Amino acid sequence: MLEELTASQWLARLEAREVSSVELTQACLDRIRSRDAEIGAFLSLQEASALQQAAAIDQRRAAGNEVGALAGLPVAIKDVLCTRGEPTTCGSKYLEHFKPPYDATVVRRLREADAVLIGKTNMDEFAMGGSGENSGFRATANPWDTQRVPGGSSSGSAACVAADMAPVAIGTDTGGSIRQPSAFCGISGLKPTYGRVSRYGLVAFASSLDQAGPMARSAEDLARTLQVIAGHDAHDSTCSPAPVPDYLAALREPLKGIRLGRVAQHFESGGDAETLAAAAAAIDELRRLGAEVVDIELPHSKYAIATYYVIAPCEASSNLSRYDGMHYGHRADEAEVRKLVREDLESASASGASAGSATEKDKREMTLVQTYCQSRSEGLGGEVKRRIMLGTYALSEGYQSKYYLKALQVRRLIRQDYEAAFASVDAIVGPVTPTPAFAIGEKTNDPLAMYLGDLFTVSANLAGIPALSTPCGLTSQQLPVGLHLQGPMLGEARLLQIAHAYQQVTDWHTRRPR
Ligand code: GLN
Repeated sequence: MLEELTASQWLARLEAREVSSVELTQACLDRIRSRDAEIGAFLSLQEASALQQAAAIDQRRAAGNEVGALAGLPVAIKDVLCTRGEPTTCGSKYLEHFKPPYDATVVRRLREADAVLIGKTNMDEFAMGGSGENSGFRATANPWDTQRVPGGSSSGSAACVAADMAPVAIGTDTGGSIRQPSAFCGISGLKPTYGRVSRYGLVAFASSLDQAGPMARSAEDLARTLQVIAGHDAHDSTCSPAPVPDYLAALREPLKGIRLGRVAQHFESGGDAETLAAAAAAIDELRRLGAEVVDIELPHSKYAIATYYVIAPCEASSNLSRYDGMHYGHRADEAEVRKLVREDLESASASGASAGSATEKDKREMTLVQTYCQSRSEGLGGEVKRRIMLGTYALSEGYQSKYYLKALQVRRLIRQDYEAAFASVDAIVGPVTPTPAFAIGEKTNDPLAMYLGDLFTVSANLAGIPALSTPCGLTSQQLPVGLHLQGPMLGEARLLQIAHAYQQVTDWHTRRPR
C-alpha cells in the first residue's frame, strides 16, 4: 500500500478520507516489521502511542474538527532529537536508557501539526560520521544495495524514507548529514539556514553548525514539513526571528530568469565520473527550464574540510564534556572503579611513593576521576573519542590560535566567498557527494577517506546557508546521485522552487530500489 506516494499525496488522501491515519500508520509499522531487520533504520518504535495518536486524529477529522497541516501523516525522528518519555539515544550506548523529560521544539511542532510520530531513527553516534557505521547499536544498510552504506549521520532517516517505512523523516546536518544520506538513498533532503529551525532539544554535536531539517520523497514534501518546523523559538537564542515565508506558494513560481552558479572546481575534483556526469546533466535540465547558468568560484572551499574538522571537534569536545558518568547516561560500575583506584594506588606504591600517604581526600578525588574515565571509556565509541581528543588538543593552551582561531578566520573567508557569489547568482548547483554510496566497511579504517566524502557539503554549514539535495540520476550500478542546491541565508523558498521545477520534468525522485 505504501509504494509510490509522496507525503503530499498521502495528505491529500487523508484529507479526502480515502485512507485513515490508523491505516497509513499501521501500513508503515507493518512495513518496518517486514523490512527493518535487514535495513536497521529504527532504534525504537512508538507503536502504541502512534496508533493512538492516529486514531484521535481520524476521530477529530470525522467529527469535522480542524486538524493540523500534517494531520495523520507518519513521521520518523532522528534519535538525536529529544522526545518526551521516549528513548533518545543519539546512536550511543552512553544514552541507551535516556528518556528526556521534554520534547525538542521540532518534535513539539510536529505534534502540534498532528503528525504521527512512529519511531526514532538510527544514526552515527552523536551524529559523527558519514556512513551510519558509527552507530553504537548497528549499522544501517542502504535499501538500494544492502551491502552499501546509506550515508550518515542521518542514516536511518534516509533509509526509512527510501524503503517506504515512513513518508517523511527528520534529520540533522552539521556537515552534510541530511544531504549526503539523501543523495545516497535517492530521496530529497533540506538543511535549512542556521537558525531557521530551533535547536532546542537537539542534542548538541557542534552548536554553531547543527541544524535540523526534513527528508522526504519530493521538494513539495520538504516544503510542507519545513513550514511546520521552521520559525522563532524563545528556547533557542540562535533561532532567527525572521518570519517564515509560504514555502508551498514559492513552489509554483517559474524558473525563467533565475541565475545559477556552477562551481567548475567541483567538477574537476577527481570524483566519480558517473556522479559528476549526472549532476552536469541535471544542470543542463535546469538550463532548459529557463535558468541561466554561469561559472563561479569559491576560492576558499578547498580549505573547507580542514576548517570543519577543526571547528566541529572543538565544539564537540566541549559539548560532550557533559557525559561524565554523573549527571545522566552511562555510569561505570562502582566496584570496577574502586578496583581501578586500588590498582592505581598499588602501582604508585610499587614505584616508590608510599601508598599510605594517600589521604581519604586523595582517594575520593581518584574515585571521581576514575568514574569519569571509566564511564566515558565504556560508553563512547571510537569515532566520538577521536573527535574529543582532536578537539581537546586543538583547544589546548598554546594551540588555540594555531588551530581553532585560524579555522574561524578561514570560516569567515568561506562565508565571504558565498556572499560574493550570491551577489550575482540566486543559487549554486553541483554534486552533493564526490561518489555514490560505498560498501559497508570500505572506509571504516580510514577516517580521512571518510572525511573527504564531505567535500561538497561542509561549506554550507560553515557559512550557515541553506542547502538541498534532490535525486538527479542513477549510476550504472543503480546507485542514486544527488544534485546539490545552495542558496543565500534564509533562501530556502528559492531552493525548494528550483528542486520542485526540476522534479516536475524528471522522475529520479520517484525511483525506488528493487
Ligand atoms: N560527516 C560529517 C561528520 O562526520 C558530518 C556529520 C553531520 O553532519 N552530522 O562530521
